Amino acid sequence: MRVALIGPPGSGKGTQSANLRDRYAIPHISSGDLLRDAVSRETELGMQAKEFMSSGRLVPDKLVLGMMKERFEQPDCAAGFLLDGFPRTVAQAEVLGAMLDAKHAPLDSVVALVVAREEIVVRLGGRRSCGKCGKLYHVTFDPPAVAGKCDACNADLVIRDDDREETIRQRLEVYEEQTAPLLDYYRNIGLLAEIDGVGVQADISGRIAAALEVV
Ligand SMILES: [Zn+2]
Repeated sequence: MRVALIGPPGSGKGTQSANLRDRYAIPHISSGDLLRDAVSRETELGMQAKEFMSSGRLVPDKLVLGMMKERFEQPDCAAGFLLDGFPRTVAQAEVLGAMLDAKHAPLDSVVALVVAREEIVVRLGGRRSCGKCGKLYHVTFDPPAVAGKCDACNADLVIRDDDREETIRQRLEVYEEQTAPLLDYYRNIGLLAEIDGVGVQADISGRIAAALEVV
């Protein structure tokens, strides 16, 4: 099972990644983890990537794809893998596709979690944290006993900058703009499975599994 999972922030992608990894016993490969790992192990590609990162530049596709290639050679990828957060662009998708075709191991499916923007604003915009002890709450899904106050230490709850509605809307807009061409690309080559990402976790996992098992 070779799958890529795509979803906006707040779509539950992390949870579904873990479910897929466990269900199919495949490694979960995120480009961010791969990069951090290569840098910390000081591999050749890692050292090159570090130069870009330490000067605040984007790590070029070539390096990330090189790390992917090395990762796919690991024995745990024999039964497949789950890609998370990669590819992000059509250019990356094309190179990845060529790389996997050369191994006669193309992607089986690209799963896109679909969650309406307003739903994500509710999910992410409702997060609160205690200004004193850091305990997390959600105004709808996990509210404190007394509104605006921490259960543990009674301090005021605060909204982190990342959880402000404006910031969330901006992030979603950027995400949608960047991701739309990628979704089109995979839709056109018949690999895209768009999954309704709203509802109970188990139901969403079931929808993903159903889509993958008809592949
Ligand atoms: Zn507290």
